[in-house]
Amino acid sequence: MAREVFDELKPRVAALARHGVTPGLATVLVGDNPASRVYVRNKVKACAEVGLHAELHELSADATQDAVLAKVTALNGDAAIHGIIVQLPLPARLDAQKVLQSISIDKDVDGFNWSNLGALVDGHPRLAPCTPLGVMVMLDRAGVPIEGRHAVVIGRSSIVGKPVALMLIARGATVTVCNSKTPDLAAYTRSADILITAAGRAKLVTGAMVKPGAVVIDVGINRLPDGKLAGDVDYDGVKAVAGSISPVPGGVGRMTVAMLVANTVAAAERSSESENLLSAG
Ligand code: NAP
Repeated sequence: MAREVFDELKPRVAALARHGVTPGLATVLVGDNPASRVYVRNKVKACAEVGLHAELHELSADATQDAVLAKVTALNGDAAIHGIIVQLPLPARLDAQKVLQSISIDKDVDGFNWSNLGALVDGHPRLAPCTPLGVMVMLDRAGVPIEGRHAVVIGRSSIVGKPVALMLIARGATVTVCNSKTPDLAAYTRSADILITAAGRAKLVTGAMVKPGAVVIDVGINRLPDGKLAGDVDYDGVKAVAGSISPVPGGVGRMTVAMLVANTVAAAERSSESENLLSAG
């Protein structure tokens, strides 16, 4: 599915190129978190695959809040850059919200700016968060009906749980959002036609917690003691019960990267339209 998304983006990138525009994504990486480095590398690789310009701006782990804000401000004003992401997590001493909110709403391709999240709440999304968007595209491309179905989301973060719940509500699902305080989680998950897990707890969801035939999308990424990656779902146990299930790795993660590229292309198109480049033919 991610490959299909990339193939569909290529003609749009070519149309922009005819007007002298190459969509540009800038990633700001503070410090030397090894997992962040892997994520950033995958994003840069995906941009290259579709013909985007990608820049990595690295700041040392002891960079000041002002230095990070100055970097974002410079990128906000850079005409070659249409999308900006600040790789999370930031070192704990930095104010991550302040940094994220400093990204121009037109270049906020992670969709974390309160203005873009507010547009999503109101049912008029502009740039929407990539992981929830990827989940919705997966459901649509798999032909999963959403309207009138019961969707259960495990997790209520602003990055995954809440925005995916909003997207499902907008599509007419009946949505239950669970969190770490939810008593008897299984009582909810067992009634889900669509189950989306974004808790960050390996093997949280077992086969006994899933309704036969349900669609299960696993957003979680957990590092097991043996170093391997796993989702929130006991994959083999749930696969035996579910109608369909997404794997970790190789599932939502790839779609998230595809949506980041898609958001950057959309931001470049919007910026070109506002300059009348595309509408002039
Ligand atoms: P987060 O901010 O830590 O939120 C986790 C949510 O899960 C919280 O709302 C928490 O409840 C809830 N939760 C934790 N344990 C639970 C339990 N036992 N039962 C029910 N709910 C529980 O994490 P996040 O940023 O949303 O990310 C969630 C997971 O998705 C992580 O594993 C992350 O690595 C992964 N992720 C993957 C991608 C991707 O591209 N595939 C992108 C983003 C995130 P409380 O609010 O009550 O604490």
